[in-house]
Amino acid sequence: MSAPEGAPGPLSLNTATVRDQWNLAQAIEGCARHGIPGISPWRDKVAALGLAQAARHIRDAGLFVSGLCRGGAFPAADATGRRAAIDDNLRAIEEAHALGARCLVVLGGGLPPGSKDLPGARAMFHDGLAEVLPVARAAGVTLALEPLHPMTCADRSVLTTLAQALDLCDALGDGLGIALDVYHVWWDPMLAQQVARAGRRIAAFHVCDWLVPTTDLVFDRGMPGDGVIDIPAIRAMAEAAGYAGCCELELLSRRWWQEDPDQVLLRAKAAHAAAC
Ligand code: ZN
Repeated sequence: MSAPEGAPGPLSLNTATVRDQWNLAQAIEGCARHGIPGISPWRDKVAALGLAQAARHIRDAGLFVSGLCRGGAFPAADATGRRAAIDDNLRAIEEAHALGARCLVVLGGGLPPGSKDLPGARAMFHDGLAEVLPVARAAGVTLALEPLHPMTCADRSVLTTLAQALDLCDALGDGLGIALDVYHVWWDPMLAQQVARAGRRIAAFHVCDWLVPTTDLVFDRGMPGDGVIDIPAIRAMAEAAGYAGCCELELLSRRWWQEDPDQVLLRAKAAHAAAC
Protein backbone atom coordinates (compact mmCIF):
# COMPACT_ATOMS: atom_id res chain seq x y z
CA MET A 1 0.00 0.00 0.00
CA SER A 2 1.41 3.38 -1.02
CA ALA A 3 2.08 6.06 1.56
CA PRO A 4 0.71 9.58 1.15
CA GLU A 5 4.23 10.98 1.28
CA GLY A 6 5.34 9.02 -1.81
CA ALA A 7 5.96 10.90 -5.04
CA PRO A 8 2.91 11.54 -7.19
CA GLY A 9 2.76 10.13 -10.70
CA PRO A 10 4.01 12.33 -13.53
CA LEU A 11 2.30 15.66 -14.07
CA SER A 12 -0.14 16.22 -16.89
CA LEU A 13 -1.56 19.60 -17.81
CA ASN A 14 -5.26 19.81 -18.45
CA THR A 15 -5.49 22.64 -20.97
CA ALA A 16 -8.38 24.22 -19.06
CA THR A 17 -5.69 25.39 -16.64
CA VAL A 18 -4.44 27.89 -19.23
CA ARG A 19 -7.68 28.10 -21.17
CA ASP A 20 -7.78 31.86 -21.58
CA GLN A 21 -4.08 32.40 -22.22
CA TRP A 22 -3.00 29.67 -24.65
CA ASN A 23 -4.28 27.82 -27.66
CA LEU A 24 -3.43 24.12 -27.92
CA ALA A 25 -0.18 24.61 -29.83
CA GLN A 26 1.02 27.03 -27.16
CA ALA A 27 -0.01 24.65 -24.37
CA ILE A 28 1.87 21.77 -26.04
CA GLU A 29 4.96 23.94 -26.41
CA GLY A 30 4.58 25.16 -22.82
CA CYS A 31 4.49 21.59 -21.50
CA ALA A 32 7.58 20.69 -23.52
CA ARG A 33 9.39 23.84 -22.36
CA HIS A 34 8.62 23.19 -18.68
CA GLY A 35 9.27 19.46 -18.78
CA ILE A 36 5.65 18.52 -18.11
CA PRO A 37 5.29 15.12 -19.76
CA GLY A 38 1.52 14.89 -20.18
CA ILE A 39 -1.36 16.92 -21.56
CA SER A 40 -5.13 16.61 -21.51
CA PRO A 41 -6.71 18.81 -24.16
CA TRP A 42 -10.30 20.01 -24.41
CA ARG A 43 -12.11 19.29 -27.63
CA ASP A 44 -12.68 22.92 -28.59
CA LYS A 45 -8.92 23.50 -28.48
CA VAL A 46 -8.32 20.37 -30.55
CA ALA A 47 -10.89 21.50 -33.11
CA ALA A 48 -9.29 24.93 -33.34
CA LEU A 49 -5.91 23.41 -34.20
CA GLY A 50 -7.28 20.54 -36.27
CA LEU A 51 -7.38 16.94 -35.06
CA ALA A 52 -4.59 15.54 -37.24
CA GLN A 53 -2.32 18.47 -36.56
CA ALA A 54 -3.01 18.31 -32.82
CA ALA A 55 -2.17 14.60 -32.73
CA ARG A 56 1.04 15.17 -34.69
CA HIS A 57 2.10 18.16 -32.61
CA ILE A 58 1.55 16.30 -29.33
CA ARG A 59 3.41 13.27 -30.61
CA ASP A 60 6.31 15.37 -31.91
CA ALA A 61 6.58 17.07 -28.51
CA GLY A 62 6.86 13.65 -26.86
CA LEU A 63 3.84 14.18 -24.61
CA PHE A 64 1.39 11.52 -23.49
CA VAL A 65 -2.34 12.34 -23.54
CA SER A 66 -3.84 11.59 -20.14
CA GLY A 67 -7.36 12.21 -21.37
CA LEU A 68 -9.58 14.07 -23.79
CA CYS A 69 -12.16 16.43 -22.30
CA ARG A 70 -14.92 15.64 -22.82
CA GLY A 71 -17.92 13.55 -23.76
CA GLY A 72 -21.14 12.56 -22.04
CA ALA A 73 -23.97 15.04 -21.45
CA PHE A 74 -26.57 12.65 -22.83
CA PRO A 75 -29.72 14.06 -21.20
CA ALA A 76 -31.71 16.21 -23.63
CA ALA A 77 -35.22 17.60 -23.99
CA ASP A 78 -36.24 15.43 -26.96
CA ALA A 79 -35.17 12.57 -29.21
CA THR A 80 -33.37 14.91 -31.61
CA GLY A 81 -31.27 16.29 -28.78
CA ARG A 82 -30.49 12.83 -27.46
CA ARG A 83 -29.42 11.69 -30.94
CA ALA A 84 -27.20 14.77 -31.33
CA ALA A 85 -25.53 14.02 -28.00
CA ILE A 86 -24.86 10.42 -29.03
CA ASP A 87 -23.43 11.53 -32.38
CA ASP A 88 -21.22 14.06 -30.62
CA ASN A 89 -19.92 11.33 -28.31
CA LEU A 90 -19.14 9.10 -31.28
CA ARG A 91 -17.03 11.94 -32.71
CA ALA A 92 -15.35 12.42 -29.33
CA ILE A 93 -14.42 8.71 -29.25
CA GLU A 94 -12.83 9.05 -32.70
CA GLU A 95 -10.90 12.09 -31.54
CA ALA A 96 -9.68 10.36 -28.39
CA HIS A 97 -8.53 7.43 -30.49
CA ALA A 98 -6.72 9.69 -32.96
CA LEU A 99 -4.94 11.49 -30.12
CA GLY A 100 -3.96 8.26 -28.39
CA ALA A 101 -5.71 9.53 -25.26
CA ARG A 102 -5.70 7.23 -22.24
CA CYS A 103 -9.40 7.96 -21.80
CA LEU A 104 -12.29 10.10 -22.90
CA VAL A 105 -13.59 11.96 -19.86
CA VAL A 106 -17.38 11.58 -19.68
CA LEU A 107 -19.61 13.98 -17.77
CA GLY A 108 -23.20 13.47 -16.81
CA GLY A 109 -24.73 16.60 -18.25
CA GLY A 110 -27.44 18.51 -16.43
CA LEU A 111 -31.21 18.42 -16.45
CA PRO A 112 -32.77 19.34 -19.79
CA PRO A 113 -34.02 22.96 -19.71
CA GLY A 114 -37.25 23.23 -17.73
CA SER A 115 -37.16 19.63 -16.57
CA LYS A 116 -37.50 18.48 -12.95
CA ASP A 117 -37.16 14.82 -13.86
CA LEU A 118 -33.82 13.90 -12.31
CA PRO A 119 -34.37 10.11 -12.47
CA GLY A 120 -35.31 10.57 -16.13
CA ALA A 121 -32.12 12.50 -16.85
CA ARG A 122 -30.08 9.82 -15.14
CA ALA A 123 -31.82 7.17 -17.24
CA MET A 124 -30.95 9.12 -20.39
CA PHE A 125 -27.33 9.22 -19.27
CA HIS A 126 -27.33 5.45 -18.79
CA ASP A 127 -28.98 4.83 -22.15
CA GLY A 128 -26.68 7.17 -24.07
CA LEU A 129 -23.64 5.62 -22.47
CA ALA A 130 -24.86 2.12 -23.28
CA GLU A 131 -25.33 3.14 -26.90
CA VAL A 132 -21.83 4.52 -27.47
CA LEU A 133 -19.95 2.02 -25.32
CA PRO A 134 -19.57 -0.69 -28.00
CA VAL A 135 -17.99 1.88 -30.33
CA ALA A 136 -15.59 2.96 -27.58
CA ARG A 137 -14.67 -0.65 -26.89
CA ALA A 138 -13.98 -1.28 -30.57
CA ALA A 139 -11.78 1.83 -30.69
CA GLY A 140 -9.97 0.87 -27.50
CA VAL A 141 -11.01 4.12 -25.85
CA THR A 142 -11.84 3.95 -22.14
CA LEU A 143 -14.84 6.09 -21.21
CA ALA A 144 -13.87 7.60 -17.85
CA LEU A 145 -16.99 8.59 -15.93
CA GLU A 146 -16.31 11.71 -13.91
CA PRO A 147 -18.80 12.35 -11.12
CA LEU A 148 -19.03 16.06 -10.39
CA HIS A 149 -19.80 17.74 -7.10
CA PRO A 150 -23.56 17.61 -6.45
CA MET A 151 -23.74 21.41 -6.52
CA THR A 152 -23.52 21.07 -10.30
CA CYS A 153 -26.33 18.53 -10.61
CA ALA A 154 -28.86 20.88 -12.23
CA ASP A 155 -26.76 22.31 -15.02
CA ARG A 156 -23.64 20.17 -15.47
CA SER A 157 -23.81 16.68 -14.09
CA VAL A 158 -26.57 14.37 -12.99
CA LEU A 159 -23.68 12.00 -12.22
CA THR A 160 -22.62 13.12 -8.75
CA THR A 161 -20.99 10.36 -6.75
CA LEU A 162 -18.37 7.68 -7.19
CA ALA A 163 -20.87 5.07 -6.03
CA GLN A 164 -23.27 6.10 -8.80
CA ALA A 165 -20.48 6.02 -11.40
CA LEU A 166 -19.27 2.62 -10.23
CA ASP A 167 -22.81 1.24 -10.32
CA LEU A 168 -22.87 2.21 -14.00
CA CYS A 169 -19.48 0.55 -14.55
CA ASP A 170 -20.79 -2.60 -12.88
CA ALA A 171 -23.99 -2.56 -14.91
CA LEU A 172 -22.49 -1.84 -18.32
CA GLY A 173 -19.17 -3.66 -18.05
CA ASP A 174 -15.87 -3.41 -19.89
CA GLY A 175 -14.71 -0.19 -21.47
CA LEU A 176 -15.77 2.08 -18.64
CA GLY A 177 -13.57 3.63 -16.00
CA ILE A 178 -13.53 6.43 -13.50
CA ALA A 179 -12.04 9.90 -13.68
CA LEU A 180 -11.31 10.64 -10.06
CA ASP A 181 -11.24 14.41 -9.56
CA VAL A 182 -10.40 15.39 -6.00
CA TYR A 183 -12.33 18.67 -6.33
CA HIS A 184 -15.53 16.76 -6.94
CA VAL A 185 -15.22 13.84 -4.53
CA TRP A 186 -13.21 15.04 -1.52
CA TRP A 187 -16.35 15.69 0.58
CA ASP A 188 -17.80 12.20 0.11
CA PRO A 189 -18.06 10.19 3.37
CA MET A 190 -17.86 7.03 1.23
CA LEU A 191 -14.72 8.16 -0.60
CA ALA A 192 -12.27 5.59 0.77
CA GLN A 193 -14.64 2.67 0.22
CA GLN A 194 -15.58 3.77 -3.28
CA VAL A 195 -12.00 4.40 -4.38
CA ALA A 196 -11.10 0.91 -3.16
CA ARG A 197 -14.13 -0.45 -5.00
CA ALA A 198 -13.03 1.34 -8.19
CA GLY A 199 -9.72 -0.54 -8.14
CA ARG A 200 -8.02 -0.58 -11.51
CA ARG A 201 -10.99 1.13 -13.13
CA ILE A 202 -9.51 4.49 -12.11
CA ALA A 203 -8.47 5.85 -15.50
CA ALA A 204 -7.62 9.44 -14.56
CA PHE A 205 -6.67 11.38 -11.46
CA HIS A 206 -7.48 15.10 -11.57
CA VAL A 207 -6.19 17.58 -9.02
CA CYS A 208 -6.85 21.13 -7.90
CA ASP A 209 -7.97 22.44 -4.53
CA TRP A 210 -11.13 23.65 -2.75
CA LEU A 211 -10.65 27.21 -1.59
CA VAL A 212 -12.30 28.60 1.54
CA PRO A 213 -14.25 30.71 0.95
CA THR A 214 -14.91 29.75 -2.63
CA THR A 215 -16.29 32.56 -4.77
CA ASP A 216 -17.52 30.57 -7.75
CA LEU A 217 -18.73 27.00 -7.73
CA VAL A 218 -17.06 26.15 -11.03
CA PHE A 219 -14.36 28.71 -11.83
CA ASP A 220 -12.68 29.39 -8.49
CA ARG A 221 -10.56 26.29 -8.04
CA GLY A 222 -7.29 26.51 -6.19
CA MET A 223 -3.75 25.42 -6.93
CA PRO A 224 -3.01 22.19 -5.00
CA GLY A 225 -1.95 23.14 -1.48
CA ASP A 226 -3.94 26.39 -1.43
CA GLY A 227 -7.16 24.82 -0.12
CA VAL A 228 -8.58 22.16 2.18
CA ILE A 229 -8.32 18.94 0.16
CA ASP A 230 -5.87 16.33 1.45
CA ILE A 231 -4.72 15.44 -2.05
CA PRO A 232 -1.87 13.08 -1.02
CA ALA A 233 -4.33 11.08 1.09
CA ILE A 234 -6.70 10.67 -1.86
CA ARG A 235 -3.82 9.81 -4.17
CA ALA A 236 -2.69 7.16 -1.69
CA MET A 237 -6.21 5.67 -1.77
CA ALA A 238 -6.08 5.58 -5.57
CA GLU A 239 -2.64 4.00 -5.61
CA ALA A 240 -3.67 1.43 -3.02
CA ALA A 241 -6.54 0.58 -5.36
CA GLY A 242 -4.07 -0.02 -8.19
CA TYR A 243 -3.83 3.37 -9.90
CA ALA A 244 -0.30 4.01 -11.16
CA GLY A 245 -0.95 6.81 -13.62
CA CYS A 246 -0.33 10.51 -13.76
CA CYS A 247 -1.53 13.44 -11.77
CA GLU A 248 -3.53 15.77 -14.04
CA LEU A 249 -3.81 19.40 -12.99
CA GLU A 250 -7.22 20.72 -13.99
CA LEU A 251 -7.48 24.22 -12.61
CA LEU A 252 -10.53 26.12 -13.77
CA SER A 253 -9.93 29.48 -12.19
CA ARG A 254 -10.71 33.01 -13.26
CA ARG A 255 -7.86 34.09 -11.03
CA TRP A 256 -5.23 31.83 -12.57
CA TRP A 257 -6.49 32.59 -16.07
CA GLN A 258 -5.25 36.14 -15.53
CA GLU A 259 -1.71 35.06 -14.69
CA ASP A 260 1.22 34.66 -17.03
CA PRO A 261 0.86 31.06 -18.26
CA ASP A 262 4.55 30.27 -17.85
CA GLN A 263 4.24 31.33 -14.21
CA VAL A 264 1.16 29.12 -13.86
CA LEU A 265 3.16 26.13 -15.11
CA LEU A 266 6.04 26.90 -12.74
CA ARG A 267 3.59 27.08 -9.82
CA ALA A 268 1.91 23.91 -11.06
CA LYS A 269 5.18 22.00 -11.03
CA ALA A 270 5.97 23.18 -7.52
CA ALA A 271 2.46 22.36 -6.30
CA HIS A 272 2.63 18.94 -7.93
CA ALA A 273 5.88 18.17 -6.11
CA ALA A 274 4.80 19.58 -2.74
CA ALA A 275 1.04 19.10 -2.44
CA CYS A 276 -0.08 16.18 -4.59
ZN1 ZN B 1 -11.82 16.73 -13.69
